[in-house]
Amino acid sequence: MSEPGNSLPGVSPIDSSDPTIARGRRSLALSPSRASDFRQCPLLYRFRAVDRIPETPSVAQVRGTLVHSVLEELYGLDAPERERARAEAMVGPAWAAMAAADPTLDALVGDGERAGFLSDAMALVANYYTMEDPTRFEPESCELRVEAVLPDGTKLRGFVDRIDIAPTGQMRVVDYKTGKSPHERYQAQALFQMKFYALLIFRTRGVIPDQLKLMYLADAQNLTLAPQEEELLSFERTLSAIWQTILAAGVTGDFQPTPSKLCDWCDHKQRCPSFGGTPPPYPGWPE
Ligand code: SF4
Repeated sequence: MSEPGNSLPGVSPIDSSDPTIARGRRSLALSPSRASDFRQCPLLYRFRAVDRIPETPSVAQVRGTLVHSVLEELYGLDAPERERARAEAMVGPAWAAMAAADPTLDALVGDGERAGFLSDAMALVANYYTMEDPTRFEPESCELRVEAVLPDGTKLRGFVDRIDIAPTGQMRVVDYKTGKSPHERYQAQALFQMKFYALLIFRTRGVIPDQLKLMYLADAQNLTLAPQEEELLSFERTLSAIWQTILAAGVTGDFQPTPSKLCDWCDHKQRCPSFGGTPPPYPGWPE
């Protein structure tokens, strides 16, 4: 296994000292969610990635952020201290910190729903403890930002919830989901995300993770994948093709709407031509 941080020949990690990143300017890269947006609807991708039009999160998304923050904080404690009661007690303060940083979140949850919101978050944390015991191992890293540029210039970026390295050297990449596990027929998006993480790790560390694990806390189910090099190389070609299509659309601004039943959950319906709206003027590709 290569040392963490080593790159494969011809594959460059993105330089995090790059001023366009360090100063928070726009530097587009393909992430699992943005790739999925483009596959679902190119115009949705444009609104989110290029125009960067703010969206109102759902209460479920806010709850997910809260639970992720508790689990991240939990692994900042020494292993013996990561007991369930301690984790559940972290939910209230973590929510207070989130609500103080962004008061619109508290307004979104609402006074009458706050107690139920917090108790649902605690139930998800409690479910987590039925799936694994965090006092029994030490992760290699948590909430890791991983970025790479493939040889053809495709930029990849992702945030990995947790990486575990066993004493045998085997690597497990873990992602927490606060919803329920998908039915077999609807696992494509989950598999897409897992392969994306596997490729990022492969291209930045030169090692293929032995296991990718999605932990669905709502029903305490795991979805796992043991990726193979051949399928990752094939997946890499798929991502490169998606990125090239995005770049071509970026030049012309031609991001076509693709209506589907998912439009019911789209925050941009009022500006979407498929629903009688008008998109704002195209701001141009940010490079
Ligand atoms: S409403 Fe539907 S078609 Fe329009 S941008 Fe959103 S997802 Fe795309």
